[in-house]
Amino acid sequence: MVEKHVFQAEIQQLLNIVIHSLYTDKEIFIRELVSNGADALEKLRFVQTAGNTVFQSEIPLKIEVSTDEKENLITITDTGVGMTHSELVENLGTIAHSGSKAFLQKLTADKKPDVSLIGQFGVGFYSAFMVASKVSVDSRSYLAEEKGWRWTSDGAGGYEIEEASDVARGTKITLVLKEECKEFTEGWRVEEIIKKYSNFVAFPIELNGTLVNTKQGIWSRSKNEIKEEEYDEFYSYIGHDKEKPLMRLHFNADAPLAIQSLLYVPGRNLEVMGMARSESDVNLYCRRVLIEPKAKTLFPEWLRFLKGAVDSEDLPLNISRESMQDSTLMQKLNKVITTRFIKFLDDQSEKQPETYTKFYKEYSRFLKEGVVIDYTHRESLGKLLRYDSSVLAKEVQTSLADYIKRMPSEQKDIYYLLTPSRATAETSPYYEVFAARKYEVLFLSDPWDEFVMEHLRVFDGKTLTAAEKADLSVENPDKVESELSPEEAKELGAWLKESLGGKVNEVRVSERLVGSPVVVIDKDKMLTSSMRQMLKRMKPEGGDEPEINHDLEINRRHSVMVRLNVIRKTNAPLALKVSEQLLDNAKVAAGVMEDPRSMLARLNDLLAEVLK
Ligand code: ADP
Ligand code: MG
Repeated sequence: MVEKHVFQAEIQQLLNIVIHSLYTDKEIFIRELVSNGADALEKLRFVQTAGNTVFQSEIPLKIEVSTDEKENLITITDTGVGMTHSELVENLGTIAHSGSKAFLQKLTADKKPDVSLIGQFGVGFYSAFMVASKVSVDSRSYLAEEKGWRWTSDGAGGYEIEEASDVARGTKITLVLKEECKEFTEGWRVEEIIKKYSNFVAFPIELNGTLVNTKQGIWSRSKNEIKEEEYDEFYSYIGHDKEKPLMRLHFNADAPLAIQSLLYVPGRNLEVMGMARSESDVNLYCRRVLIEPKAKTLFPEWLRFLKGAVDSEDLPLNISRESMQDSTLMQKLNKVITTRFIKFLDDQSEKQPETYTKFYKEYSRFLKEGVVIDYTHRESLGKLLRYDSSVLAKEVQTSLADYIKRMPSEQKDIYYLLTPSRATAETSPYYEVFAARKYEVLFLSDPWDEFVMEHLRVFDGKTLTAAEKADLSVENPDKVESELSPEEAKELGAWLKESLGGKVNEVRVSERLVGSPVVVIDKDKMLTSSMRQMLKRMKPEGGDEPEINHDLEINRRHSVMVRLNVIRKTNAPLALKVSEQLLDNAKVAAGVMEDPRSMLARLNDLLAEVLK
């Protein structure tokens, strides 16, 4: 006996749109039907594990897709829970979900309805009508006392249900394809689509008798079941990389979100190798059904070198890309997995220091970018930074945490010095006070690092301070033959300020110098000299930027200064030349001398003077 049913009004409205206005992305109906099959199998597995009896329990759990070019058919069969008569009516004839009204409104309002919205509101089944003139659903529930049923519809008006004998447990959906949709009877085309969207579905998918999804989401299996080769194979598949990955993180979480995730760090940073900017290669799945390939919003930008898969059951299946961008759920997911990955890196640095060192060599720029850009993770990223240090051997780098452990109790800040090389740092006038006080200084050589320090500002309660800006003095300096008294030094300072005129901002007596006669300090102490220099260089050409004036600090214990104080009264022209040269020398030491050639004439004059 054939029963005739009418679609609920909303369903009919929906079907009209699906049939008459959706022309692009039709291939997604395969994804929708396969994922329904996978859902049904998942439910069956659940029923089984709960200890319930299942009709035809011997039938293996799988999905079969078959195509028939002659008859113009495609069928999708699963051996899942199946549907009873009332479930067929309820699930395929009414919109049960509350969001469906909103969905309909959106579809009707859109000039070009967005087909990707289809799955979002739990109406994926109807995508079958995009490509089929007739759809029939043969279904047999897993409940032993139920019967088999056939549901059929052409999508216009209503559907029919009749009893069907010889239906195996599960559901078989047969689509009679429209003339213009014949491509979906071609095996290679269907295979391509299955591989694209459903390659990691947890159940076997066979196409015309052959297994298609050979890589069933390994991230959702338990760690001790997975062989090393399988991990590598999955990496080369997803990362398109023949080499082995440098690091791997496989983690599962239940709270605050259900997440199964497998992440890889490639052996090489392609951006450094001069390739284009990397794009995240992490796919987003919901229960092993692909939701978004290369999901952009899954991780912050600075983690764009990652490859792998993130699977969360908590995501609505087939959420559209646009709504994904600003979904609070995505933000939450992003935060959870990013935090977890940073923690993983921190752990690795302890457990696998060599691997971490390699990682740092390749990817430190990304971490630094994170510190500058990503406020949320700034502090924890600080833990991952590594720097050369004045107290460590050349090849060894320190973390900020280890630096703090070595700090003497009276030392307040963490000090750093940016110079082109370690040798320059060790002979820098800015370093003298630290050497004298035996304070450790981080030696930075990447110009980025100054920005990093400026953004990080504080680590574990300790302020990060540029050596140049440190407010320190040498305690109990070594005895010298002769020195200027503080008053004499002050007078000399006043004379220098007057003689050098506009070339310096302020002249002060310094208590931080040991071996250098003078040093320049950026006048507003906001930036280090080298940073100001860099900013200046970044300014467009031709801008008439006035010379940068520094403060000059003088060392009253230095023999040159003692002598200078004498000759300024006896040979003023020579004293002036010496002063100018001292200023230039200090600029060279600070790395801010624009053109050292400009001092050569003066230097030669001075040499002539010496040789007289
Ligand atoms: P959703 O999958 O988001 O719930 P669909 O429109 O894809 O929305 O499917 C509607 C409902 O129909 C499903 O929730 C499920 O109860 C039922 N259904 C669809 N396909 C199958 C299937 N192959 N086996 C069992 N039930 C199914
Ligand atoms: Mg569905």
